Order: sequence, then structure tokens, then C-alpha cells
Amino acid sequence: MKRRTLLSSGVALAAVPLPGAPAAPTTGKVRLLPSRYLDNMNRTVAYLRFVDLDRMLHMFRVTAGLPSDAVPLGGWEAPDIQLRGHSTGHLLSGLAQAAHYLDDADLTARSAALVAALATCQAPNGYLSAFPETVFDDLEAGKNPWAPYYTVHKILAGLLDQHRLLGDPTALRIAEGIADWTGSRVGGLTREQMQKVLHVEFGGMNEALFDLHAVTGAHEQLARAFDHDEIFVPLSERRDTLAGWHANTDIAKVVGAAAGYQVTGEQRYRTIAGYFWDQVVRQHSYVIGGNANAEFFGPPGQVVSQLGENTCENCNTYNMLKLTRRLYRIDPSRTDYLDYYEWALLNQMLGEQDPDSAHGNVTYYTGLSSTASRKGKEGLVSDPGSYSSDYGNFSCDHGTGLETHTGFAEPIFDFAGGTVSVNLFIPSTVTFQGSTITIKTGFPYDGRVHVTVDGPARTFTLRVRVPGWARDAKLHVNGVAHPAHPGAFASLRRTWRPGDVVTLDLPMRTRWLPAPDNPAVHALAYGPLVLAARYGTTPPAALPIADPRTLRREAGRAEFSVVAGGTRVRLSPFLDVHHEHYNVYFALPPARPRRGTVAEYPLSDLREKRHRWPDAVLAGGAVPGERGVELNGTGAHVVLPAGLPASLDRLTVSAWVRLDSITNSARVFDLGFNTQSYLFLTPRTGLGRARFAMKLGGMETEDFVDAEIPLPIGVWTHVEVRVADTLTFLIDGTVTGVNPAPKMNALLLGATHFNFLGRSQNPKHPFLHGAVADFKLSS
Ligand SMILES: [Zn+2]
Repeated sequence: MKRRTLLSSGVALAAVPLPGAPAAPTTGKVRLLPSRYLDNMNRTVAYLRFVDLDRMLHMFRVTAGLPSDAVPLGGWEAPDIQLRGHSTGHLLSGLAQAAHYLDDADLTARSAALVAALATCQAPNGYLSAFPETVFDDLEAGKNPWAPYYTVHKILAGLLDQHRLLGDPTALRIAEGIADWTGSRVGGLTREQMQKVLHVEFGGMNEALFDLHAVTGAHEQLARAFDHDEIFVPLSERRDTLAGWHANTDIAKVVGAAAGYQVTGEQRYRTIAGYFWDQVVRQHSYVIGGNANAEFFGPPGQVVSQLGENTCENCNTYNMLKLTRRLYRIDPSRTDYLDYYEWALLNQMLGEQDPDSAHGNVTYYTGLSSTASRKGKEGLVSDPGSYSSDYGNFSCDHGTGLETHTGFAEPIFDFAGGTVSVNLFIPSTVTFQGSTITIKTGFPYDGRVHVTVDGPARTFTLRVRVPGWARDAKLHVNGVAHPAHPGAFASLRRTWRPGDVVTLDLPMRTRWLPAPDNPAVHALAYGPLVLAARYGTTPPAALPIADPRTLRREAGRAEFSVVAGGTRVRLSPFLDVHHEHYNVYFALPPARPRRGTVAEYPLSDLREKRHRWPDAVLAGGAVPGERGVELNGTGAHVVLPAGLPASLDRLTVSAWVRLDSITNSARVFDLGFNTQSYLFLTPRTGLGRARFAMKLGGMETEDFVDAEIPLPIGVWTHVEVRVADTLTFLIDGTVTGVNPAPKMNALLLGATHFNFLGRSQNPKHPFLHGAVADFKLSS
């Protein structure tokens, strides 16, 4: 019945390649042709041929009580690391993809050997892991082991890939055993107990079990047992509560929701997956297509205020691409899914891999602060930006990298309903109903794409995606123009004859792309490529200010330069910048700087109801007083509207303040986004002085200027700070401190979301006890 629902909802089954279903006999394998993609794949395949299977099996054998004299692995596969075993799961998937798409007998034999060896490690109850089953007793007892179901998912998914792509029946049999074992554990838990178990990262257990259900017809209820209410309920109600979620943990669950819709047709799963994708891509992603800072989602719309060396964990995007593939197959009219897919592949995933490594080593994060880098310090997981290694790393990203770089072929084409869709511009070739369809292009470095059709004359529809960014795209069939609209498929139905060629021209232009939380900050794109400034060994301390009028292109190449921070810097496609520091976001000076008073809050005429500042909100017990707003020190504060300092290249902030008592770290004012991006004045720090400070997320230290004294108690005092080439702090009109060389410019702060008087961005800090008046911001 549910399968019927799926069919009647208009989703063509052929568009949903259920794992285990053999490929349509009329469609051959997609083969990559020489390109940046194939280069990456070849490096990872070299690792797949090289890696010692006995070492990858060592802890599985030890756990099963079998002899093993292999050298134990290091990193996150070391014998004392709880996550051990996950990489062997990724290895199964990587080998399956590589063996399938390359039609490679050696890789197929290695795959079969690995599967057969794992079969010998599986316990009679179906348990298969590199750590003992007692870890699951701990999990169910409410302890917090490091993600045991996460590793089970990786192994299960790897076995399903072995079965789907290579047809290995042993792999399916082991997978069914793992599912039966999972059912025996989960079956003994109440729903409440299970929801507690789901608090510990479990990867995409639901995804793998739905995929298994699609093959065998069993285990649907078991898959549903991994519905995590805390995540699924708000998403099903289209509420964005992502701030504070661990991104990679929760993206994987949503991939499972998409798989649930594909298998059951249940609308709630589709809502969860579709809404989540929209929010992550449009509200929580950096310009390269990655998301999350230090692995956690922030509030919607925070990008420049959430920069750091640990942004964009590469696993997050690996999982977002999985989600995107499924959503596109659910709704094959959505070219925005493919636009995101291509953008994230080009600007994050291809570049996660070190092009100078023989084995396709990858970074863990793709950092996006001005101090970020891709440079090798021999694979330390703890070192952001360093590349992984053969046996000493085994981070989650080393594992997902094995799949990412062997799976490029899979989404290039689709053949749903007899229509051939060219989804991605990756040089490749495939046969379809006797026709050979070939993509030839230098994309993304140039914008001309040829799709040729060869073989006997046949009538079918060929759809070619025109990317949303490609204004003025042109499409020709054998030299005859056809309509091509950006952000849609160009659909060509005709009798295709040998030698027919479709030519798509995508004009490659540079575009400055503004950040959502700071209209002054931009990244630079050239066609589909995000460009990065190369900084060698010396990164800028803060985002540099670039002069867009100085942008130059090297003739005939996707290489540029621009004057930023006062010097000319080289810009290259980000994917090609390795072994050095780089910078992706720049402040651009405002075309017409705002000058004069920007905002003024007297805060002293409240009872006159003149509504001169209707947009200031007295909160937490703040009350109007004779001279200003009275703040009780226990929660009272003033909330000013968002966006006050946006696009100001210099600014002066001033206020009158009267302290009734003084506590360290209270705030006279604090304009910012979070505890990493702010501009504040405190009456006293631990050093016993008043301080003005500002910082943007990703800067190593803040810019500050200290007064000689703390602010006095019991008297009205005028404070003023001037932010320009220097930072100047005045008390009662007298300069009390100067910072002659701040690293940051006022422009970088942007359209601050949270602007407070008497309250800090940091909820642990005390509230101001006293009164404030005449808050003024000018430029
Ligand atoms: Zn990861």
C-alpha cells in the first residue's frame, strides 16, 4: 500500500533507485573522464588499493575472539578509542563505489575479501563491531559512550553499498544479521528509553535500516525507532531550532528522514527533510556551501559573526550532499538542489583533499577565518586544517572522504521516466538505450560544456541543467539556439542522431557575494568558483578590506589579484589553495560612507511620551528615571534594534552612565551577535580598569583599549570611544587610553543582531547596576 502511495504521489520509482534494485539494463555505468574530479578519485582509489585490510580488521577480530597479529591502527581507530570500527564501514562503501564505477577486478576482489572476513567476525546473535557489545549496555544505562550506533551505521551502510553496487549476497546477509541484532536491543526498550539512547550520536541508523527495508521488506518499524523526537518534532512543524545542535549528528538523522519518505511515502518525513535542507542551505551555510562553527549550528543568518578555523566540518557537507541527492530524486524539478550540490562539491569537497598526497588525504574542517589554512602537520585530528594520513588519523572526515571522492559519478546523470538528465558538469560518459552520452568540458575553469550523443538514432528527452548563477547562459543543439533559463532545466526532445552535440555556454564572471549578517563583507566568486586570497605562511589578523576597483584577472586563467589590506594579493579558486593560509571573506568599503549621527537614544524623556526612540525596549525590570534608564543589576537592561553599526567604516559610541555598584565584566553597552563577535564597554575588568573591546569571530584576540581607572561609582560619567585607524577611549571628555594599531575595522562588525545597554552578549556576565542615558552612535 505504501509503495502505491509513493507511486500515486507522482514520484517515479525509477527516480528513486532503491538500494538493491538492479540498475535498469539499458543504462550503463557512468565513467569519469579526465578532470579535477577524476584526479581526486584516483588518489583515494590509490589509498583503497594500499590500505592493509588485516589492520582494518584487527579490532573486529580481537573483539570476536579471533587471532590477529596485525599492527593496530592509530587515531580514531586506536584500540582504546571508542569510535573504532567506523573507518572500516567507510572503506566498504569506498571500495564498493570504486570497484563498481571503475569495473575493477582487484578492487572487487578486495571488497569480497573484506566482506568475507567481516562475516567471520559476526557473532551468532548478529553483533558485528570493533568493540564489545557491553558498550551498548552502558548506552542503555544512560552513560555516554562515544557513538556506538554511529559506527554500526557506517558498517551497515558499507555492507549495503557492497550489496547494491557489487551484488555481494554475503554483505546483505551480514547486514540483515546486524539489523536483527539491533532489533533485539531496541525491542527491549520503552519508547522513552529509546529516546534517551538517541541522545548519543547514532549516525544514520534510520537511513540504513530504511534502505535495508527497501531491499528485504523487513525492518521498517526498526527504522522508525530511530526517529529522534527532539530533532524531528520542530522540523516537522517547520520551526528552526537548529542553534546549538551538533551539525553532523543531526544532519545524518535527517538523511534518514529523507530515506524514510522514499521508502514509506510518509509526508512528515518529507517535510522534515525538505524544511531542514532549506534552512541549512539558506540560513546556516557559509559561502562555500559548508555549515556550522566548531561543529555546532548557530542562529539563522549568522555567517561573518561565526567565522573560525573550525567552520565547515567536511562530514557535514558529505551528509548534506547525501540529503541533497535524496531530495533531488524525490523532486527532480528542483535544480536548486543540484546548484547547491555542484557548488558544495567545487568549493568545499574537492578542496578537502590534498592534491599533492598520493593517497588523497583530507582535512577535517574547512576553516573560514582570516587565520585559517590548509597545511599538513602530519594528520593530527586536533590540528584544524591539517591533512589526514594513512594510518594515524582515521577521523570521521578521513572516513567520509573515502566515499566522497569515489562517488562523483553517481549523481551526474539521471534516467527517470526515459528522460536523460544532465545534472552536473563533470566530464564523463554513459550509455543509455544504446546511445552514448558524453560530457566534455573544462568546467569549472571555463564555462563551455559539450554534451554529445552517439549511437543509433533514437528519440528521447535530454534535460540539461542551467545553473541559477549563470545569467545569459546560451544553449545550442548542433549550432541552433534553444532557450536556456538560469535555475531550470533546458528540455530537448528530438530524435538524436550520431554526432549530435548540445553546447551550453555559461558566462564566467566575477561577483562579490554579500554576507547575510554584514552588508559590508563579501566573498568573491568567478562563475561557480569561490576565490580565496593566498597568504602563504603569514595570515592577516582580521578580514582584510579589499578595493574591488583593483581586481585584475590573469589573461585566460581563473586566477586573479586584488589590493586587500593595502597590498596586492593573489586570488585562486579555493579548491586549488593548499599548504598555506588563505582568506575567503573581505570587507568592501562603503560606496558612500554614512557620516553624522547614526542612532541616538536620550533615554531621559520617557515620561514625555515623545516617542523619540520607540524602538528601544526596556527589559528585565528596567524603569525610566529622572536622568536616564534605571538598571537594577539583576536583569534590567535596554534592548536596541538590530543592525545599528552596519556599514560604518568608522564610529564613535558614547553614553552617560551612573554606577550604583561595580562588578567586573558588566556592560555599559554591548553590540554584537554572540560571545565571539561584539563591541562593548565594561566599567571594570579583572585588571581593575574600564575597557572598550571589539572582536569578530575567528580573530585570535580582541582589539581593546583600557582606561587608567575603573568607572567611578555614584556620579554621572560620560564615556566615549572612537573606532577608526586607532581606538581612543575618553572619560568625561579626556583621553584615558589609546590603542594605536587595532587589527579590526568597524566595518567588520556588521549588522549586529543583539544590541544591549547594561547587558553582555555572555549570559554568565553580571548586569549593570546603575543608570544609562544619552546613548549615541555616530560616524
Ligand atoms: Zn567529520
